[in-house]
Amino acid sequence: MKAAVFQEANKPLTIEDVDIIDPRPGEVLVRTSCSGVCHSDLHFVDGLWQLPTSCVLGHEAAGVVEAIGEGVSYVKPGDRVIMSFKPFCGKCYYCLGGRPNLCNDPEIGAASASRLQWQGKPILQFASVGSFAEMMVTTENGIVKIPEEMPMAEAALIGCGVMTGVGAALYTAEVPGGANVAVIGCGGIGLNIIQGCRIAGAAKIIAIDIIDSKLDMAMQFGATHTINSRDTDNLIEAINDINDGEGVEYAFEAIGIPEAATQAFNITRPGGTTVVVGMHPIGSEISVPGPAFLQEKKLIGCMYGSTRFREHMPKLIDLFLQDKLDLTSLVSRRLKLEDVNEAFRSMKAGEVARSVLEFS
Ligand SMILES: [Zn+2]
Ligand SMILES: [Zn+2]
Repeated sequence: MKAAVFQEANKPLTIEDVDIIDPRPGEVLVRTSCSGVCHSDLHFVDGLWQLPTSCVLGHEAAGVVEAIGEGVSYVKPGDRVIMSFKPFCGKCYYCLGGRPNLCNDPEIGAASASRLQWQGKPILQFASVGSFAEMMVTTENGIVKIPEEMPMAEAALIGCGVMTGVGAALYTAEVPGGANVAVIGCGGIGLNIIQGCRIAGAAKIIAIDIIDSKLDMAMQFGATHTINSRDTDNLIEAINDINDGEGVEYAFEAIGIPEAATQAFNITRPGGTTVVVGMHPIGSEISVPGPAFLQEKKLIGCMYGSTRFREHMPKLIDLFLQDKLDLTSLVSRRLKLEDVNEAFRSMKAGEVARSVLEFS
């Protein structure tokens, strides 16, 4: 099959002929329909995160089941599915505690290292998905079925950015109706945090970015106020001007820059919650003022929007089909697999919410 292979940081991906295994017991083979190009893929291309070997990146995808391995009962060939980049084992501490997004079963990782071969050597399938390829194999516990009427490009985006962003608001922070919130960073994740807060019924949603076109998008997704942080020396004052108070009840960081996480903490009011959603570089540290903890400020992390994906992704599809969740405006460009490097370029330039690769 055709796949875009990542070999080395800061080099373009190359289109190669890669072998994929037939599904083993408990596994499914999925023909890729659409794959989003996400910032987390870019982190590896840019070398901020490292991979041990060559790899097929891509982890935000939807497709059609082509074949199933022995013992698979959840799907049959022809079913349409979204891929999860955190398959669950169903038996560990996290899975049994209702937090399958934190499942770290070593067998799942080992399985994803043995599904692809290129030039006679095994290469890694990124995050149990590897969707910059015509086909994907994953475990039965790494997919969720979706209805016929769900368009595939929009479905693919639920696989990472939408679930992470909307989930950060609804399931990680559990933003209550009437809350005042701020979101630092209005890329693909930030826009979805904003619409998650809108769905939750937040009263004031303050979007913060350095690019005006992203702030315009933020308004479209539900922001009530915007701040271009290039235009202000004092973000706390700018927030207080809008909120005439002591900061916001919930602040989200959606960039992956430690200074932005510090800012998010500093604009959170006493008793409020800061949620770090961005993927911070390996080795980075976030600095916050210690005395602020006497004000009961909470600083929490987020993995995949705290999703139990088999429960939550169908709910997001319902919201989309009822026009309460905007996925269509997130699809800025539709490209082919061969255009994957162009997709990375336009993401870095801040030109797009999401590029979606379409497979025929
Ligand atoms: Zn992602
Ligand atoms: Zn588990």
